[in-house]
Amino acid sequence: MLETCQPALRMLWEMEHVLKAVSGMDGFTFQPAAGAQGEFVGISVIEAYHRARGEEKKVVLIPDSAHGTNPATAAMCGYRVEEIRSTERGTVDVNDLKSKMSGEVAGLMLTNPNTFGVFEDEILEIAGIVHEGGGLLYYDGANLNAFLGQCRPGDMGFDVVHINLHKTFTTPHGGGGPGSGPVGVKAHLMPFLPLPVVARDGDTFHLDFDRPQSIGKVSSFYGNFGMVIRAYVYALMLGAEGMRRTSEMAVLNANYIVRKLEKVFDRPKSSQPMHEGVLSAAHLKKDHGVTALDVAKRLIDYGFHPPTIYFPLPKVCPEALLIEPTETESLEQLDAFIEAMTQIAKEAGEDPDLLKSAPHDTPVRRLDEATAARKPVLRWRPDD
Ligand SMILES: *Cc1c(COP(=O)(O)O)cnc(C)c1O
Repeated sequence: MLETCQPALRMLWEMEHVLKAVSGMDGFTFQPAAGAQGEFVGISVIEAYHRARGEEKKVVLIPDSAHGTNPATAAMCGYRVEEIRSTERGTVDVNDLKSKMSGEVAGLMLTNPNTFGVFEDEILEIAGIVHEGGGLLYYDGANLNAFLGQCRPGDMGFDVVHINLHKTFTTPHGGGGPGSGPVGVKAHLMPFLPLPVVARDGDTFHLDFDRPQSIGKVSSFYGNFGMVIRAYVYALMLGAEGMRRTSEMAVLNANYIVRKLEKVFDRPKSSQPMHEGVLSAAHLKKDHGVTALDVAKRLIDYGFHPPTIYFPLPKVCPEALLIEPTETESLEQLDAFIEAMTQIAKEAGEDPDLLKSAPHDTPVRRLDEATAARKPVLRWRPDD
């Protein structure tokens, strides 16, 4: 049976090598179907590792700027979440981390550059603190856009990573569709990866089920295989040099936008942004009652897909606009976006209702997003 799918297994094996080279990890699984499931796998692997050593840990440390899936994952895996404060620069407060590190800590989950788009430049010290305390480091690599070909989480002391192929390796963030969140680990965690793993024996490939310490299977066959093919083609087309260029352009584009728009919008964290930048509409709200949501809806009138809003969370950044142009936008497109945002900020002062009633040209106007999420209508019925 396996001889009929040798090319598919070879592709998985080769893609694993691409991700190992990019991340500095020693082995990967492609089973997780999204970043959130990758986190579940990664934290389960950390749990299995501590258990195999006869240690029971209770706490996962997570910075206050973290993506919501991080604390959700840790809680799902039975851990208590303790939050680490961010500094004014937008980075992890190392003193706060030190004070919360204890023998109960299973690990720290970190995104780098974090969700403020800021590089954690004290990462080596952070990794030392966590490892010395007996914990492991989980890297939320949902977005590797700033890192590709520049530096590697494996070299920064991370033990586990997940990478979102549907963000960094082809599909634009927010593009919808199927996901793929492969998880990579360092050698000491490889026995715990989901089974089976793709193994090579000379010129033939097989699936290795002989993994007594594995956390088990987490997906049918091997996750969303089609997404892996897509990422594989993308990696082969770009090559190492192309990937490096990708991250350079992503960082340049984000900085261009932020430098131009920080004259018009608030900028809550002072450090230089990497592949994404956080602006805030808090001043528009204070002066004119116009919110980040209103700005986002008005952008639709200007023909732009709005950026992520209200993330990072209001407790760390009120009225957040998280702008991530990626590497693919042209200078003309970036300038058009900056111009639209500048106009919108002006409109907020002159005619706030124009923003509050936006979008104006779409088939449906403002949707009730909370009801859409809580009572989704997923199927058309003739009597509805
Ligand atoms: C998108 C994202 C996730 C979750 O990934 P999904 O594929 O949506 O489950 C986790 N962390 C960060 C930082 C993200 O940007």
